[in-house]
Amino acid sequence: MIVVDRLKAIVGAGGWIDDAQSLEPYLTEWRGRYRGRSPLLIAPSSTAEVSASIKVCAEHGVGIVPQGGNTGLCGGAIPDESNEQILLSLNRMNNIRHTDVDDFSMVVDAGCTLQKIQRVAADLDLFFPLSLAAEGSCQIGGNLSTNAGGINVLRYGTARAQVLGLEVVLADGRIIDGLRSLRKDTAGYDLKQIFIGAEGTLGVITAACLKLYPRPKHCNTIFVAIDSAAAAVRLLGRMRALLGESPQAFELISSRAMRIAERYDSTLRNPFDTASDWYVLTTVNFETSALENLLMSEIETNGIIEAIVAKNEAEAEKMWRLRHSISAAQKNEGASIKHDVAVPVSRVGEFIVSVEFGIAEISPRARVVAFGHVGDGNIHLNVSQPKTQSIDLFLEDQSAITDFVYRTVDRFSGTFSAEHGIGIARKEHLQEFRSETELSVMRAIKSSLDPQGIMNPGKVL
Ligand SMILES: Cc1cc2nc3c(=O)[nH]c(=O)nc-3n(C[C@H](O)[C@H](O)[C@H](O)COP(=O)(O)OP(=O)(O)OC[C@H]3O[C@@H](n4cnc5c(N)ncnc54)[C@H](O)[C@@H]3O)c2cc1C
Repeated sequence: MIVVDRLKAIVGAGGWIDDAQSLEPYLTEWRGRYRGRSPLLIAPSSTAEVSASIKVCAEHGVGIVPQGGNTGLCGGAIPDESNEQILLSLNRMNNIRHTDVDDFSMVVDAGCTLQKIQRVAADLDLFFPLSLAAEGSCQIGGNLSTNAGGINVLRYGTARAQVLGLEVVLADGRIIDGLRSLRKDTAGYDLKQIFIGAEGTLGVITAACLKLYPRPKHCNTIFVAIDSAAAAVRLLGRMRALLGESPQAFELISSRAMRIAERYDSTLRNPFDTASDWYVLTTVNFETSALENLLMSEIETNGIIEAIVAKNEAEAEKMWRLRHSISAAQKNEGASIKHDVAVPVSRVGEFIVSVEFGIAEISPRARVVAFGHVGDGNIHLNVSQPKTQSIDLFLEDQSAITDFVYRTVDRFSGTFSAEHGIGIARKEHLQEFRSETELSVMRAIKSSLDPQGIMNPGKVL
């Protein structure tokens, strides 16, 4: 392919790989559910190289698949099987370009890992709130392209809310330099928002100007054993009524999810002596004594069985490690049918009960592993393969289970895709659960920004 030679020349030695063995990790999705082929991965080292590469691909009508940390769970960063699409990795664009402490802003290359950004902010006694279990490997470009959520959405909003400006390379190679750090700007359409959550189908994000925050003063982590998901929602309501916006994260963990996390890491342990059906892990920016008083009063009335306040940062970190390890641990339990859904916060308890009953009727031995960001109404509702059933037999029920979950979500006025985006995995459901008017506007945006359809072909729409 001529295009391959031209692209290699643009990115130079060390900026591409084309041998099967080195390409392998970039061709498979995190869970191994999607696998593609590609003749070449390029890793440009600058926005100019991204732009030049895309111009060449546009000239030859060749598809480009942007890839960040490859932690996405919907197959969005994986090329198709044609062996004709070029992978464009942001791995080499990983510098913090500029930090302005007085402006509470930071300009970063798209290939910076989320963890690097958090750490640089913390070193300046500032705070970047986006946080998720894959933060050591996912990149900010991927986070923005999937509008990632994570644990602190309750207080700070999703990835979308953390962006002041973007630099984007369009499908014809032109560059939008929108790295403004303004808090107010009413000059025309807010273009950056179109690329956030677009999963690389409209252009390549090469840099972002991010919003930073003051480091929260009190950061108390509390593990709560609680008798139901509905009681967890009530507890959150009480906390917000009494403590205002100070709950920063509020995660729900089912006892099955807790057991799975413990099973594969001997350093992790359920901190409670008595078993409970549900647990809440919360970080609250409020003084310890006020929190303890509140929890004591709730223990008598609102379904709380026991609560443990982390005594220090190490203990808090250990509690959060338990929560963050659930997805990875679940990989060891065989196939998992994942649903990442959201319903109105007030209806989370009722929703979980409804889906558990329905799934038990479809696949009686399947194990529902529910956990997630209950503060945002977002539940990871994963269904694990029964221990005594083969993968193939279990996956025969996949579409019936997913269909049932999504219909229940719809009945609860929720969304079938609260995090992770659409990728390949949820394309059909986007068609089903978004109106024809919304879909036609999405198609119009896509065809006007990428008329040749070369940006991440076959994803989202
Ligand atoms: C253990 C685990 C826990 C997770 N927890 C959460 C969670 O709590 N919340 C959450 O939202 N997600 C979560 N995820 C999913 C995943 O981490 C996020 O979707 C993340 O934002 C993806 O970032 P990435 O850099 O890995 O992107 P990739 O997987 O590489 O790509 C994702 C999509 O973005 C596109 N893309 C990547 N970089 C760019 C770019 N620079 N420009 C344009 N398009 C680009 C790709 O083409 C693809 O469509 C989790 C994943 C794992 C493995």
